[in-house]
Amino acid sequence: MSASQRLNGLTYHLRTFGCQMSFHDSERIAGMLESLGALPVSGAEQAELVVFMTCCVREKADERLLGQVASLKNLPQPGLAPRIIAVGGCIGQRDGARLIEQLPHIDIVFGTHNLAALPDLVQAVLAGEGHQVELLACECQPATSLPSRRSQAWHAWLPIMTGCNNFCSYCIVPYVRGREKSRPFPDIMAELERLLAEGVVEVTLLGQNVNSYGRDLYGQPRFADLLVAVGQSGLARLRFTTSHPKDLSPQSIEAFAHTAAVMPHLHLPVQSGSNRVLAAMNRHYSVEHYLGLVHELRAACAMSGKGANTPALSTDIIVGFPGETEADFEATCQLVQEVGYSQAFTFIYSKRQGTPAAKVVDATPAVVIQDRFERLVTLVQQSAWQANQGELGQTVEVLVEGTSKRDANMLTGRSPKNQTVHAPAPAGVDSERLCGRILKVQVTEARTWYLRGELV
Ligand code: SAH
Ligand code: SF4
Repeated sequence: MSASQRLNGLTYHLRTFGCQMSFHDSERIAGMLESLGALPVSGAEQAELVVFMTCCVREKADERLLGQVASLKNLPQPGLAPRIIAVGGCIGQRDGARLIEQLPHIDIVFGTHNLAALPDLVQAVLAGEGHQVELLACECQPATSLPSRRSQAWHAWLPIMTGCNNFCSYCIVPYVRGREKSRPFPDIMAELERLLAEGVVEVTLLGQNVNSYGRDLYGQPRFADLLVAVGQSGLARLRFTTSHPKDLSPQSIEAFAHTAAVMPHLHLPVQSGSNRVLAAMNRHYSVEHYLGLVHELRAACAMSGKGANTPALSTDIIVGFPGETEADFEATCQLVQEVGYSQAFTFIYSKRQGTPAAKVVDATPAVVIQDRFERLVTLVQQSAWQANQGELGQTVEVLVEGTSKRDANMLTGRSPKNQTVHAPAPAGVDSERLCGRILKVQVTEARTWYLRGELV
């Protein structure tokens, strides 16, 4: 019996942890399983197959996975056969068969390169062949060739590259996702065409280090060329993530500023505001270089007329990297104030076995790190609040994403700068029908994490 016959009618439940890449991998898993007839269910109780798509960037994600898998053990089985449990993604790739030794009720472990193998692995378990582990990098069927089931009709993630070559000293990603591999330009453009035909209005180009797109494939086209080409396709809104400051080229800055569809928001993770820590992190740029990029971006956007105070900048920051001193931390705080981030994702350093930073002994007490973390969070909130004040009285174009959880009459969506915006829905209009539409909102209230206004 083929995988498609076996999977037809099988109920499955998918849980995802981690970054956008992991969420997009899950869209491919869902698309593939459903193309073979499997049926999604919202809870593990009714599911004959439970798939975990995992993340191992920080320790918390490990703990969460183990807790959730363990809790499935005593859940009554959904039908005649025992429930199949599959663990994929970064933890699957990192731990392989060790996961099954730890939790023997896991049936399948598959790695970051083996999404397409899942139906055959499920079939093998159904056929009574026991535990299945598939981790080897295989060229047979790349994940990008699988159908994708998008969670929103109007937005799509579009992977342009996988893996990472940067080996930041704290980070496990290059070990579990492998080396940088750019997706051929024509493939990306063909998928974009399909997305546009399906009515997608916003696309986020996805990769661990999008600025180095094309480096492994050919000299040209590179990321700047891709931005221009996608920007000319008729797409309304283009975003991308993640950018590494060391690879943000002058050409990309120009393309960013002059391509109308590129939204005026850039996620440019700085990680630390101390040159000493940046060097120990193996980031290959200095604070001065980073601030220079911020200056060039703002100058280019001012020239191109992209809008006042653009681009909005967001960042990732790690607190408590081994050896971080109070002076290093204060330098980070100073940088946050200088840049004026609209948002920052702050993380307490998490030791990842196998990375160079894990070998460094650090005696900084956890309470000191926690205190720094809380001070940084306060600073980030002030910065976000300040950045939002500039929007008061402005009219912003909002891509409607749905209605507020608390109030079905309140539309919610995103501004070009990626701020959350709420506005009352027009009377007598079905709010759901406005999802995916771009509406003008005049901003009357600016809070730390959202703007509020009236439809124009
Ligand atoms: N490739 C992207 C993001 C990768 S992971 C980039 O370089 O920007 C997302 C974020 O997790 C990183 O930016 C970093 O801030 C954080 N991170 C990665 N490893 C970490 C670790 N060991 N401890 C704490 N935070 C970590
Ligand atoms: Fe990790 Fe650095 Fe690569 Fe980002 S660029 S995935 S932080 S190694």
